[in-house]
Amino acid sequence: MQVFGLVGNPVSHSLSPPMHEAAYDECGIDARYVTFEPAPDDLEAAIEGARALGIEGLNVTIPFKQDALDHVDPDDLATRIGAVNTIDFGGPDDRASMPTGHNTDAEGVGRAFDHHGVALDGRAVVVGAGGAGRAAAFALADAGMSVAIANRTVERADALAAEVDGASGHGLAPLERLVADADVVVNATSVGMEANETPIPAEALHADLAVLDAVYSPIETRLLRDAATVGATTIDGGWMLLYQGVAAFERWIGQDAPIDVMNEALRARI
Ligand code: NAP
Repeated sequence: MQVFGLVGNPVSHSLSPPMHEAAYDECGIDARYVTFEPAPDDLEAAIEGARALGIEGLNVTIPFKQDALDHVDPDDLATRIGAVNTIDFGGPDDRASMPTGHNTDAEGVGRAFDHHGVALDGRAVVVGAGGAGRAAAFALADAGMSVAIANRTVERADALAAEVDGASGHGLAPLERLVADADVVVNATSVGMEANETPIPAEALHADLAVLDAVYSPIETRLLRDAATVGATTIDGGWMLLYQGVAAFERWIGQDAPIDVMNEALRARI
C-alpha cells in the first residue's frame, strides 16, 4: 500500500484526505492519505521519519510551509515563493535521496482560472502578501500578467513586489483604482472568512473581471456575491484547493488525476 499525507497543525478539519482517497478509489490505487500533527519544533524529524517509513508524499500546511523549505530539495518555484506545500519522497528506490519540495498552490491558482476559461494576460491585482498572496503573485506573473500587489501592511506588498517580475506594491487605499483597470483579481487575504466582509469595495468591481477568492469557508463569500452582481466571472476558493491537490496527485502518482471525482468529494464536505 502507498501512503501519502498532510503535515500541519491543526489538520483535523482538512478536506485533503477525502479528496485524495476518492481519487485513489476511482483509479484503483491501493493507497491511503493520512493527517499528521507534529509539534512545532518537530518538522525536520517528521519529514525524516516519513522518508524512513516509506511514505511517498506529504502535503504541508500552516504553520510548516516556510520551514519545510529547509528540509527538502526545493524546486525553483517553491524557492521563489518561499514555501513548500508538497513533498515528493519518490518511490521505494528513491528513499535514500533528499525529498523534493514543490508549491502546488501556485499551480492551483493558474489551473482554477484555466478551468473557468480565463486567459491570464493583461493586469492582475493580488490582495494579500502572505502565503496565498505569494503563490498567486508568482503564478500570475509567470503566466505573463502584470501584477499589482495590495496589502494592509504596505511594506510586505513592496517586499513581495520587489521579488516578482514587473510587479508593483501598494497599500489597500488605491484598490478601487487598481481593480478598475484590472482583468483578474485574487483575494489572498483571510477577509471574508469570519464575517460577511470583503477586502474590495463593491463599487470597484466590473463585468470584465475574473475574481478568484482564495477563501473557501464560506464557499460563497461577500466578494464573490458582489462580483456576481456586476456580471464578473467568479471562482471560489474550492477550485484553488482542488487544483493544488490535483497537481500533488499527478506529481506523486504520475498519471492524470480524476478531477471531477476529486471535486465532488471536496464539495460534498466543504
Ligand atoms: P497569511 O500568510 O497569514 O496571510 C494573511 C493575509 O491576509 C496577509 O496579507 C494579511 O495582511 C491579510 N489580512 C489579514 N487580516 C486582514 C484584514 N483584516 N484586512 C486586510 N488584510 C488582512 O495567510 P494565507 O496562508 O496567505 O491565507 C490567506 C487566505 O487564503 C486564508 O483565508 C486561507 O484559508 C486562504 N487559502 C486558500 C487556499 C486554497 O487552496 N483555496 C490556499 C492557501 C490559503 P498583513 O500582511 O497586513 O497582515
